[in-house]
Amino acid sequence: MKEIQIKDKRFRTFIPEADILREVHRVASEISRDLEGENPLFVSVLNGSFMFTADLMKCLDIPCEVSFVKLASYAGTSSTGKVKELVGLNEDISGRTVVIVEDIVDTGLTMKRLIETLKGRGPKDIRVATLLVKPDKLEVELNLDYVAMKIPNDFIVGYGLDYDGLGRNYRDIYTVID
Ligand code: 5GP
Repeated sequence: MKEIQIKDKRFRTFIPEADILREVHRVASEISRDLEGENPLFVSVLNGSFMFTADLMKCLDIPCEVSFVKLASYAGTSSTGKVKELVGLNEDISGRTVVIVEDIVDTGLTMKRLIETLKGRGPKDIRVATLLVKPDKLEVELNLDYVAMKIPNDFIVGYGLDYDGLGRNYRDIYTVID
C-alpha cells in the first residue's frame, strides 16, 4: 500500500493498475460484442477520462471513431451542482451509435445533462461507458450500459482523476485518507 500527498490531502492506494486494466478489458469485450457493425462514435469527456479512453480504445477490435469533449461540473472535492455546456463535438452524430466515455458518475447530473444534449442531435442510440460509479450518490435515474467498477462515496484520484488539477498522472487509483 502506497500513500501520496496532494496539497492538503493524503491518499492511499485503492485500486491497483492491474485491477483497473482487467475491468477495462472486460468492458471493451462487452462493447465489441454489442456494437459490432455499428461503427460507434466514442465521445470521451475530458479531462478525467483521458486514460480510461486510451486504454479502452486499445482493447477494442471493432471499427470505431473517437472524439473528445469538455463538460465540467466539479470544484475541489464536492459537487457544485453547476453543470457547464458541452464544447468540442464537431461530428455529425445523427443516425449514429454514440458511446459516452466518462471517468466517474457521482450524482449523475453531469451524465444526465450530457445525454439530453446529445439526444437533441438525433443519434440512433446513446450508450454510456463509465470507469467508475458511486451507486450510493446517484440522484437521478440513469442507464449505465458499461461500468468498469463500483466504488463507495469517498473522494478518489489517479488514472486520469484529479484533486485541484493534480494526481491525474498516477497509474493506480487512490482514495482519500484525510
Ligand atoms: P456528477 O455530476 O455525477 O455529480 O459528477 C461527475 C463528475 O464529478 C466527474 O466527471 C468527475 O469530474 C467529478 N467527480 C465525482 N466524484 C469524483 C471523485 O471521487 N474524484 C474526482 N477526482 N472527481 C470526481
